Amino acid sequence: MQSIPEEWRENTSTSATDGAADKGMQPWEGHTLFQRNGSSGGGLTKGGSEDAGHPGKGHGKGAEADRESLMMELTRLVQKTVKESSWWERRGVDCTILAAAFISLPLAFFLLSSSQVLLFSLGMLVMGVAHAIITIKGTHLASHGSLSESQAWGEFWAVFFIEVCGSFTARAGVQAHIKMHHAHTNVIGLGDSSTWKIPFLPRSIYLFIAPLAVPIITPLVALGQLKSHSVTQAVRTVAMVTLGLYSQYWLLLNLSGFQSPASALLCMLVCRAMFSLPYIHVNIFQHIGLAMFSPTRRPKRIYQMTHGVLNLPRNPLLDWTFGHSLINCHVEHHLFPFLSDNMCLKVKPIVSKYLKEKELPYQEDGYLSRLRLFFHRYQEFMVYAPPITELVGVQ
Ligand SMILES: [Zn+2]
Repeated sequence: MQSIPEEWRENTSTSATDGAADKGMQPWEGHTLFQRNGSSGGGLTKGGSEDAGHPGKGHGKGAEADRESLMMELTRLVQKTVKESSWWERRGVDCTILAAAFISLPLAFFLLSSSQVLLFSLGMLVMGVAHAIITIKGTHLASHGSLSESQAWGEFWAVFFIEVCGSFTARAGVQAHIKMHHAHTNVIGLGDSSTWKIPFLPRSIYLFIAPLAVPIITPLVALGQLKSHSVTQAVRTVAMVTLGLYSQYWLLLNLSGFQSPASALLCMLVCRAMFSLPYIHVNIFQHIGLAMFSPTRRPKRIYQMTHGVLNLPRNPLLDWTFGHSLINCHVEHHLFPFLSDNMCLKVKPIVSKYLKEKELPYQEDGYLSRLRLFFHRYQEFMVYAPPITELVGVQ
């Protein structure tokens, strides 16, 4: 059965997130992890509701209607493709990739019990790749509630992937990614990616050394986030994170036969840090250095996302471990955040063709080109405050 996101229905009103922000409420002042009946992190809304809460626009009605129709027209094209897609295309492919990662874990533990260097190294590789698929692709899709059409299951998967597997708090993770990053992409002070900046670190340390500490820093940051949680949520998060970390540690000692706690912990660190460098790189490459917007003069959604988001080229390893929505379909993901990785890939030709036809940006750059850019302009991008972009005529 095809489920159409609430955002695609007629008569939707201003997003719950924006509404909460307008009233000075915390986005988390609700009871559930996902708010299906709203933008759920930057989904589409129809008609004028798209820009409710975006003061500062004051142009002719005709021009307004023209711009309005761009997003609606693109939405109709994408919606048609989604409606024609099977469950396998919408969720099956991505669920199978995640399942394959879990199924490969016994093999990884078995290979890690080998005394032969080659087999042992292969075990590390399998576990590192599986861990990346589960904790990057899995947590990202789970944070969007894209793994299930049921809200209850969506919340279960978010806790499982983000807390048990990803050692972070589901509540803070969804808030940071969905309610801030997606809802306020490249808006200064809200979704400006400044949380990724550590300006006191030199560029080489930031880009090539510090990311290796991500597996250690993540649970520590999660602990710091618990003060804003209720006691029940905090206890659950601590229990889930401990369960995830301790089960891997226990299996390394008891299944793979590691002789000492230190060697098991070192193995965990290597596997968990295997994709930390591209993880940090990808997170900064696709937004920082692009157009940034003022909270009071933000452009309409289609301009915000086409100017503030960039796609990297396809890369077989990263497509699998991170997912298309984080690599080569990031623009599509920001325009339609409820689509799975496989559906983002399927609608990519439609979106890119449409944006090019309408002479809107469709920003793409290579991984190494982006790395060179950040290395040479590190101060400008990662230390100084970004300048605000005024898209004349479209705010
Ligand atoms: Zn996302």
